[in-house]
Amino acid sequence: MDMYYKSTRNSQVNVSSAQAIASGISKDGGLFVPSEIPAVSMDEIKALGKMSYAERAFFVFSRFLTDFTEAEIRYCVDNAYNTRNFDTGNIAELAHLFDGTFMLELWHGPTCAFKDMALQILPYLLTTSARKLDLGKKIVILVATSGDTGKAALEGFKDVPGTQILVFYPDNGVSAMQKKQMTTQEGSNVGVCAIKGNFDDAQNGVKAIFTDAGIAEKLSENGMQFSSANSINWGRLAPQIIYYVSTYAQLVEDGEIAAGEKINIVVPTGNFGNILAAYYAKKMGIPVNKLICASNSNNVLTDFIKTGVYDRNRKFYTTISPSMDILISSNLERLLYHLCGENDATIREWFGKLASEGRYEVSEDVRKKLSEEFCAGYCSDDETKDCIKRIFDKYSYTCDTHTAVAVKVYEDYKAATGDTTKTVIASTASPYKFSGSVLSAIGAESDADEFELVGKLAELSKLPVPESLAALKGKEIRFSDTIDRSEMKQQVYKTLGIC
Ligand SMILES: *Cc1c(COP(=O)(O)O)cnc(C)c1O
Repeated sequence: MDMYYKSTRNSQVNVSSAQAIASGISKDGGLFVPSEIPAVSMDEIKALGKMSYAERAFFVFSRFLTDFTEAEIRYCVDNAYNTRNFDTGNIAELAHLFDGTFMLELWHGPTCAFKDMALQILPYLLTTSARKLDLGKKIVILVATSGDTGKAALEGFKDVPGTQILVFYPDNGVSAMQKKQMTTQEGSNVGVCAIKGNFDDAQNGVKAIFTDAGIAEKLSENGMQFSSANSINWGRLAPQIIYYVSTYAQLVEDGEIAAGEKINIVVPTGNFGNILAAYYAKKMGIPVNKLICASNSNNVLTDFIKTGVYDRNRKFYTTISPSMDILISSNLERLLYHLCGENDATIREWFGKLASEGRYEVSEDVRKKLSEEFCAGYCSDDETKDCIKRIFDKYSYTCDTHTAVAVKVYEDYKAATGDTTKTVIASTASPYKFSGSVLSAIGAESDADEFELVGKLAELSKLPVPESLAALKGKEIRFSDTIDRSEMKQQVYKTLGIC
């Protein structure tokens, strides 16, 4: 079966996965979606249970990237999913938290957040795509980050031949450790810049640059072309499907569930990329009961899933789970495209309204489908901290602030529904990335320098300190620019040495 990719805003678009990955976003502003969703059988799941993570990744990619050769896919997965990049041979770990509840630890990569699961492989997917298409151009990666994507993308792309990367982050929207990780980034093809504003400002600025024909032309004259490492890129999303397929196979293999038994999946959500990957895994045939979407006080998705009205006209909160401080969840566009019967006109209408009025309302039919597949909840910073403390005291398990939002929303869901389906909670960051908040949650002193905090958290949690974080201590700050949103275009030209 040959897979191709359509745009959510123009169903006539028909490109290969290499083209979708190399360009990142469709020219019409839409996102690339697969023409169909490949199926995985229970026999295949059982076979996957015996395989390594890289082999499971090979299986999933070979279904979605049908224009890649076997050798190309092997090259990508073998270079990404190995113990040089991850601190566990399992790549993702599955921890048993309490009865029938599992933590899917997606933060064993080099930057200690789940973004590594995709961004360790994206540079290989992207440079392989460029080679297949014979682009002959330098690929320029622009990233808007709420903290974790930026660092993970920088680590993935640093010194990759034929690429250059520039990351924009909101000046006051990332943790001290996240900022340190980015501003000390090494590599000869990297740039990092702070924006006065929040994540949505950074993301909108990057989107505007991507779709500006004048800028694209200027890059082209200079032998360059943009691509995206944000989860709007299919090459970010496809790798995230793997760990849900892999987890299900592992649970069956370990005898924790019977083959065919349904599970719930809970995901702390921001841009809707991670939970959308779980939705795709479900559509492939992974038995899922409910997908539970957990938000912090920026609860635009909770309201949307409950009412069918998406309204970003609301207060923006800066929370202790900054990677979820988002009011425009880009990947929702992909989900809605599938739920509305792949009607590109409908998507253009809704997302046109989102751009002009900041609000749209989906049809009754789509609202119903949404509530069949998804549940949603949110919690405040105080509830998040309270949850970290309870889990720490009761199970000696230390959660980061994002993961704790998911745990709390799941507890609420379970109390409200009585649903005892076995459940996988996506654990999206190492607690060490947010040491200050985690320590203050468990009642320890939390206003020292971030490296002292790491030491303190190590004492209390008994978790090994990730080497990559410990190593930041002595590193010099290489990037200290802070600019206005209006200066982003100039910053791009400056970094690329064109003006
Ligand atoms: C990015 C991120 C999220 C949100 O993931 P989305 O795919 O944007 O929904 C949650 N937690 C952490 C730690 C993250 O880095």
